[in-house]
Parts: sequence; C-alpha cells; structure tokens
Amino acid sequence: MKALVKRHAEPGLWLEDVPEPKLGINDVLIRVDRTGICGTDLHIYNWDAWAQRTIPYPMVVGHEFVGEIVEVGSNVNDFFAGEIVSGEGHVVCGRCRNCLAGRRHLCAHTVGVGVNRPGAFAEYLVLPMTNVWHHRPGIDLDVASIFDPLGNAVHTALSFDLLGEDVLITGAGPIGIMAAAVAKHAGARYVVITDVNEFRLNLARQMGVDLAVNVKNQNLADIQKNLGMAEGFDVGLEMSGNPSAFRSMIDNMAHGGKIAMLGIPSEEIAIDWNKVVFNMLTIKGIYGREMYETWYKMTVMLQSGLDISPVITHRFGANEFERGFQAMKTGESGKVILDWKVFR
Ligand code: NAD
Ligand code: ZN
Repeated sequence: MKALVKRHAEPGLWLEDVPEPKLGINDVLIRVDRTGICGTDLHIYNWDAWAQRTIPYPMVVGHEFVGEIVEVGSNVNDFFAGEIVSGEGHVVCGRCRNCLAGRRHLCAHTVGVGVNRPGAFAEYLVLPMTNVWHHRPGIDLDVASIFDPLGNAVHTALSFDLLGEDVLITGAGPIGIMAAAVAKHAGARYVVITDVNEFRLNLARQMGVDLAVNVKNQNLADIQKNLGMAEGFDVGLEMSGNPSAFRSMIDNMAHGGKIAMLGIPSEEIAIDWNKVVFNMLTIKGIYGREMYETWYKMTVMLQSGLDISPVITHRFGANEFERGFQAMKTGESGKVILDWKVFR
C-alpha cells in the first residue's frame, strides 16, 4: 500500500510502498478515505528537536482520519465491514490505575498512532477495537476526518462551565477556532480570540466569534472596556503555546477565573504566580481527548447545529502531500485535508 513514511533522520516525508498492517484478533482494519494534517505531523516533517527525541523511524505518520472498515479480528464484536469510522489516536494500556477506573485519558503509558506506532497517512490502518469510533450515517467526511483535533478543542472548551461566561481564547489556529465555535455553541456570552495572524483571525470571524483581536495592534484591557466587561474573563482557553499570550491571559482573568491549557510551549514559561495566588486562578492542563465522552459530545454537538466546516481551507490528493505541508507552513491555512482515494 501507499503510505507517508518518516524514512530518514532529516526534514521531509516520503511517499512509499509499504506492507499492509497486520490485523490482530482484537483489531479493526480500516481503509483510509481522507486525513487531516496536524501540527504534530509538521513537527515530524520538519524533524525538529521534539521529533528527533520522539519518533522512531521508519514510521508511517498521521493520526487524523476517517475511513471504512474492511475487516475485523476474530475477537471483535460491534464493528462490521462497510462502517464509517474514525479513531482515537492515543492507545492506552488498559491496566493502570487510571485506565481501570475509566479515566483512560489519564493513562501514563499512552502510545501514539503515527508517533510511536504506524499511523493513518496510508491506504490502510489497523487500530485496536477499543480505539474505533462509529460515525453517524451521513456525516460530512471532511469534518469526520478532523474529529481528533476537534476533540482537543471540545475537551479544552468543555473543561469548565461556559453558560453565560466570558471566554478568552489565545491562539486562532485550527484548534482555537474550533474551540471558539464550541464555546458559542455551549452558551458563552462573549468569545474573544487573539492571534497575530490576520488570515486566521478572519477565519475565526467566519466561525462567529464575538471579537477576533490582533494583539499586535490592540490590548485586552481595552477590549474588555469596549465590551462592557467589568471583572475580567471567566474562562481562558490557551491554544497558542506562546508565553506572552499566556501571560496576557493571566492578566485579564476575573478573580476565580479558570484556565484550560492545551497549547504546547516550546520552552519553559515564567509567569507572575502572585496573580495566580491572589486572584485565585485555576490552571488545568489538557492532553488529547476524554475517552470517550469527548467523542460523544463532538458527535451530538454536530447533530445539534455546531458547524466547524469553515476551518477546513485546503484539500489535496495524498499524492500532493507536499502542497499540503507547504500550506500549513505558510500559516495562511486552517485545516488541510489529504484524500487517499487517489490511489484506488
Ligand atoms: P497552531 O500552531 O496552528 O496555532 C497556534 C496559533 O497561535 C497560531 O495561529 C499563532 O499565530 C498563534 N499565536 C502565536 N503567538 C501568539 C500570541 N502572542 N497571541 C495569540 N496567538 C498567538 O496550533 P493548533 O494546531 O491550532 O494547536 C493549538 C496548540 O495546541 C498548539 O500549541 C499545539 O501544539 C497544541 N496542541 C496540544 C494538544 C494537546 O493534546 N495538548 C493537541 C494538539 C495540539
Ligand atoms: Zn493505562
């Protein structure tokens, strides 16, 4: 089969013929229809310090996908050929304290699809049945292919009660933009999103945020005043990984405000802990998705009117993957989708 492989310890990915993955008795074999490119895939493409530390090679990369089941292992119930599915990219151990207690997103022995085990940028993917998610019939397949990052947005946004609250999102990348749509859907009063990239701020406006703020020209204290806010933001969703964005969030929270932090900083960040203490802020780290409450919420919010489709800005055949990665690198993009049917 065709697959995108990290073959050499240098920047790039290589489209190669590799053997189809082997189906175990508890596994599901999926023919990949389309995939989303994640920032993680770009790190692996660029072969930065994190990728060099983390990725064994050769490795088939990618973890955002939708596809059709073609075969199931002999021990598998409830999954059948022909069904449209996506999958959770974190394969957990199933045996640690958190896994046994049903808190699988807190497993400390997670293995990543397309990171530590063969991934979804391929014609076929094998996943344990415990990682497969059924889609509703008729779901938009582009949207289905990005359930993984939508899940990051939903997990972060729904970490704290949003009804009637004023929400600040720092970073209008694809995940920040989707989180903004989720926050509006969940009943927030004002959703303000910040970035330094006008293309992305415009995309956020199309998604219905109340204000998309370029922090190069405007500061959040003025924004609060203009909106008639008196006490600061109630909930913050940090989705940039940028130190100054995080600090400005801390400066603009209400007393007792709650911050959910998804953005991955590339280095240590110093903050004024006095503000955290005296303003009694809560800061919660977020990794991945809750298995499988986040997946349930994604499914039903899409049924009840959540529309994230404007975040998808580029579509290419998987044979044109270089153009997809280029689009990501420019920053003038939302989600980029690769179509694997080109090889059929
Ligand atoms: P992205 O890199 O596309 O988006 C980050 C955005 O932050 C960019 O648009 C950038 O212009 C903006 N930004 C930079 N400086 C800023 C500043 N000072 N103020 C406001 N915005 C600023 O990333 P993404 O794919 O949308 O993901 C969002 C973040 O979440 C990234 O840091 C990513 O690494 C991280 N992430 C975490 C998890 C997890 O499980 N914790 C999963 C996926 C992604
Ligand atoms: Zn575990």
